[in-house]
Amino acid sequence: IPVDPFDLVVFGGTGDLARRKILPALFRRFCAGQMEEGTRIIGAARSDMDDAEYRAFVAEALIEFNGDHSGCEPGTITRFQQILSYVTLDARGDKGWGELAAKMHPGRVRAFYFSVGPSLFGDLALRLHQHGMADHDTRIVVEKPFGRDLASARALNKALADHFDESQIYRIDHYLGKETVQNLMALRFGNMLFEPLWNSHYVDHIQITVAETVGVGGRGDYYDRAGAMRDMVQNHLMQLLCLIAMEPPAKFDPDAVRDEKLKVIRALGEVDPAQIVRGQYLEDEDKPGYLEHVENPKSLTESFIALKLHVINWRWAGTPFYVRTGKRLKARTSEIAVVFKEAPHNIFDQDSGRHRNILTIRLQPNEGIDLDVTIKEPGPGGMRLVDVPLDMTFTEALGPDAEDVPDAYERLIMDVVRGNQTLFMRGDEVEAAWAWTDPIVAAWEEREDKPLSYETGSSGPDEALALMHKDGRKWRDIR
Ligand code: NAD
Repeated sequence: IPVDPFDLVVFGGTGDLARRKILPALFRRFCAGQMEEGTRIIGAARSDMDDAEYRAFVAEALIEFNGDHSGCEPGTITRFQQILSYVTLDARGDKGWGELAAKMHPGRVRAFYFSVGPSLFGDLALRLHQHGMADHDTRIVVEKPFGRDLASARALNKALADHFDESQIYRIDHYLGKETVQNLMALRFGNMLFEPLWNSHYVDHIQITVAETVGVGGRGDYYDRAGAMRDMVQNHLMQLLCLIAMEPPAKFDPDAVRDEKLKVIRALGEVDPAQIVRGQYLEDEDKPGYLEHVENPKSLTESFIALKLHVINWRWAGTPFYVRTGKRLKARTSEIAVVFKEAPHNIFDQDSGRHRNILTIRLQPNEGIDLDVTIKEPGPGGMRLVDVPLDMTFTEALGPDAEDVPDAYERLIMDVVRGNQTLFMRGDEVEAAWAWTDPIVAAWEEREDKPLSYETGSSGPDEALALMHKDGRKWRDIR
């Protein structure tokens, strides 16, 4: 569905994120016919460039990062270039702001994407205000990291709140833009089948895994100050956990959904240090290890973490949540698995083994949802049981239409333009997540806890496997 013409400014429009994600996403929505005539996209950054140079710069990025855009009509890149312009601007000074303000169309939705480091958020908010670009139709989009602890997140929230209302602030967590993540809500709250079973009576445990194969690469400086807990658990994994654990909201509206997510974060219990495993990847042939990737050869920052959490409320008392994330692991996989309890009594042969229903929500690769169910093994071999997945992968269920499913950035940017905040984090959610994270991190920093080493291409340190083994459970294979 096309949206009314809008003005979108990408601060940091020459940066890595803009080139790899934001501009390709905008292009794909343009190609899909979602941008009405008159929409304007304005890059704004420090580099000196004119419009023609920026258009060429964006076309190059599209060719490099857009993958297959053969579905677009010929000439789409040229037409897209026509809606682009550029302003050389300094977030910390006056340069460029008057020019930017002159480009705004009155009476339109204006979105400002802050694709710059968080230290510039306050400057941008202030100058938008000073230059008359902060009216009630203005929306601002901010990227992670949103702080590195509760105090810095509060300071950022305040710097934005000084000039914008919470209803104008869109804090991106691109995990929430994934089709499957939204489908998880449809599955939970659109079906009668799951809700009665969605509690500690029937759910044995929940596993959330976000595994990457890459190392910290060129982001060593930033990463070493963050680590897996701050970079991934506090935001992405926490958001996934919220969607799994939250109570049904009264309606699918931004604050109703976010109120319920906030309650989950506030119900998270303290984590026993014995239930946390931290790791650093070792070097592998020609690939440097974590300690070679970062400046400090004695760094104690983790590139892997696994931990066991509890949501202490009526629904989840007694059902643990195991979460893990790390770099240089065996495969690039993100999934949530809801592992149901075994049937209370086995009426079949003793050797029929252990069978459990597992609902798996795969975020990547092959976004989709499947449910393992137990059936009789076909054939004459007697009553032997076997688990088979009921596959709800969209590409199969939806056929060729599934190819058109927008990626996370496409969906989220269009949600900003439409003014829908449901899939964006609210300030109090982010603060609550830091309030839970801070004491955990402070405890290991105080102890000077040394991360365990793990091999590239493994599932993390063996101790992470033991974290579940000692509870009589097992991580799903990282595939
Ligand atoms: P980058 O260093 O590649 O780009 C930074 C951009 O900001 C450039 O366009 C630069 O010109 C502009 N800029 C810097 N100082 C400025 C100033 N004073 N005035 C105006 N413009 C200025 O950074 P990036 O990788 O694109 O990341 C941008 C933000 O997004 C960061 O906060 C980063 O943490 C976050 N982020 C990046 C990624 C990623 O994959 N690159 C992923 C998630 C979040």
